[in-house]
Amino acid sequence: MRIKKGDLVKKIAGKDKGKQGKVLRTIPSEGKIVVQDMNIVKKHQKARRQGERGQRVEIAAPFDASNAMVVCPSCGKATRSSYKLVGDKKVRECKKCGKEF
Ligand SMILES: [Zn+2]
Repeated sequence: MRIKKGDLVKKIAGKDKGKQGKVLRTIPSEGKIVVQDMNIVKKHQKARRQGERGQRVEIAAPFDASNAMVVCPSCGKATRSSYKLVGDKKVRECKKCGKEF
């Protein structure tokens, strides 16, 4: 996966297209990511105790990582990051400004 937890990403397709948010969680086995305030779904939560009212909660649902691009922290542009090898270490490189991140 090219996207990591804590990355700023931009949604490039589907719901919330064009929106930016921080990656809260990645699910590499499914190729999905969970991004703050993105792909919000409303769920109804049942009352857990008697006398308590059920409530609607909004949660950020996972979506396909291919629908998001990483926003480069150096130039602020959404980029399809690529990996390059520096020594034996893999680093991500911004295709727009060439900076590693
Ligand atoms: Zn850049």
